[in-house]
Amino acid sequence: MTLSRGSRLSVVIPAFNEERNIAAVIERTAAVLEDLGLEWTILFVDDGSVDATRDLIRLWHARDARIRAVFLSRNFGKEVAIAAGLRKARGDAVVVMDADLQHPPETIRDFVAAWHEGAEVVFGHRADEAHAGLMRRLASQAFYPVFRLLSQLPLEAGTVDFVLLDRKAVDALNLFQERRRFTKGLFRWIGFRSRTVEFVCAERTRGASSFNLRRLLAFAMDGIIAFSSFPLRVWSAIGAIISSGSILYALYFLIRTLIHGSSVPGFPSLIVSITFLSGIQLLSLGVIGEYLSRVYEEVKARPIFLVGEELGPDSGPAFAPE
Ligand code: UDP
Ligand code: MG
Repeated sequence: MTLSRGSRLSVVIPAFNEERNIAAVIERTAAVLEDLGLEWTILFVDDGSVDATRDLIRLWHARDARIRAVFLSRNFGKEVAIAAGLRKARGDAVVVMDADLQHPPETIRDFVAAWHEGAEVVFGHRADEAHAGLMRRLASQAFYPVFRLLSQLPLEAGTVDFVLLDRKAVDALNLFQERRRFTKGLFRWIGFRSRTVEFVCAERTRGASSFNLRRLLAFAMDGIIAFSSFPLRVWSAIGAIISSGSILYALYFLIRTLIHGSSVPGFPSLIVSITFLSGIQLLSLGVIGEYLSRVYEEVKARPIFLVGEELGPDSGPAFAPE
């Protein structure tokens, strides 16, 4: 049973300034992979690191050719780094994992077990969020229900981009041409037989997280915009409600003037309605702008990422001896 689904596994690790984690992540991951008896590759996607990450990866590659790397030409962001990894990875299944050991490599055992049992996508689900700050926990509590409602995708809080993807799923994801990616959503969107594996998210012990609250908010907005056009369409409903309100208000004035004659009060209501409406208009224009800027980005059809250098075979049969 074990080898029926193939036995070649690639572990894709996006890394941005992770010099302090490279050795540990390789050692722990390689130990797990050796133990599983799989034919394995670790594929680092260096996302424009400016510290010693690349030099370290070179050293490790020289020592063991199963440690491969793609060095992107600059920092493209984690989502694009994952996309690059999925394009370059070979093998019957691909695991995507963070470099900072917050995703414990030992969980790969459970991933592979679920894969061998037939799952085509195995999601890592973070069992507790105790390590995340209060703001971050609150933000994610608020985000997921909104995302689920708008996108109709069953994405739960604690879903992270620590996954195993069968070759089928990888090939499916490689069809996506989107430049602004919300990878977690794409993993759900593609479907396939999926399973969830719980893991305990470790604390980042070395180096610093690249995501501050501003970047997370931008990421949340990317996610919602990429998977829902509700924010774009809701304005027609809001506009209709406000217009009907104003028609009723006009009728009220008409009748009042007919009964009581004309008077000049109404200055506050005038100001309130003008500011309220201009606020609504600017807001809806802003939302259109958000979508339009993304449409513009996609229409330009720039390459999603550019590779500066590759360590390891760039073409040829998968897992060919080097
Ligand atoms: N990362 C990346 N490009 C970036 C930022 C981060 O490839 O621009 C990688 C980073 O090296 C790590 C993973 O993405 O392997 C998660 O990043 P981080 O730990 O900073 O995020 P957090 O765990 O705080 O969400
Ligand atoms: Mg992290």
